[in-house]
Amino acid sequence: MYGWGGSSTICNLLEKREYLGHTINFKTRKHFKDKKSHYVPEDEWTIFENTHEAIIDQQTFDLVQKIRGNVRRYPDGWGGEAAPPLTGLLYCADCGGKMYVHRTNNGKRISQYTCSQYTKVPCGTLCKTQHRINEDVVLSLVSEMLKAIAEYAKHDRAEFVRVVQEAQSSQQTAEVRKQRTRLATAKQRVSELEVLLCKIYEDNILGKLSDSRYATLDAQYEKEQSELTAEISVLEKAVKSYEKHEKDADRFIALIDKYENFDKLTIAMLNEFIEKILVHERDRKGSIQTTQEVEIYFNFVGRFVPPGVWRSGADPGGIRRNPQARGTQGQTSSELLEA
Ligand SMILES: [Zn+2]
Repeated sequence: MYGWGGSSTICNLLEKREYLGHTINFKTRKHFKDKKSHYVPEDEWTIFENTHEAIIDQQTFDLVQKIRGNVRRYPDGWGGEAAPPLTGLLYCADCGGKMYVHRTNNGKRISQYTCSQYTKVPCGTLCKTQHRINEDVVLSLVSEMLKAIAEYAKHDRAEFVRVVQEAQSSQQTAEVRKQRTRLATAKQRVSELEVLLCKIYEDNILGKLSDSRYATLDAQYEKEQSELTAEISVLEKAVKSYEKHEKDADRFIALIDKYENFDKLTIAMLNEFIEKILVHERDRKGSIQTTQEVEIYFNFVGRFVPPGVWRSGADPGGIRRNPQARGTQGQTSSELLEA
């Protein structure tokens, strides 16, 4: 990977979309009434994709934004050491708060994550418990899960592709179809209005339409047009984000294929694979002899669990781990998790 840490030039480069080979227009826009330039919000920029050769690819760009956004540089007790790998990915399942790393001081240096909302004063009001979990437990859980997925992908490729696509396309609802139809209708009506506006303007000039009648119709058509334009932009965004997701199954499969080994997870890998991890409280709080539910949400496909593996009865996709069985080498996945 790039050595972006500490180099502001590279950091800047990695934050500028122009370097992806896209040209961004309309960062400002002149208003037809006052002729001044107005700054336009980012989501309204017109981006012409792939207009020049990209210096970095889109996926690297997105990944870097995510990692840079997640890393909390020097949390308590970490000095200048490597960033804790799960920061920005772990969330409390009960309050949704981010979980931050702590190092316990019992002679060993064990990294543990707790819910950031729990400690907010007065302690325990925003979130009732700490949701404490060891870093190595989460890392080995993710590693075991990825190994199982990779194994499944190798074992029955066609079935794997089908299941991933199915998991992903369950988002393909009647809603999207409805939005597409409405979008087409709205666009059609906007072009009709364009014609009508020209027509009444002409009719008015030619004396076929009175000034007052013209003013009424003109205002009415303009209003309809601006309402439709706003609706179209909302619909286009919705449809576009859906289309983006259509390729997600392929992206996830490509990502699984990209790595041979899931024993050692790097920060980059974690961010590539994981969207978020929800940590529940231990079934018996404070007890080591208990289970704790952890939900892993992958990028592109969400809470994907290979069929027949590790599903807890109550909550499909939820994984229960037995803290007793943490960290030892050569463990099978079923030992790591309570059925
Ligand atoms: Zn919490």
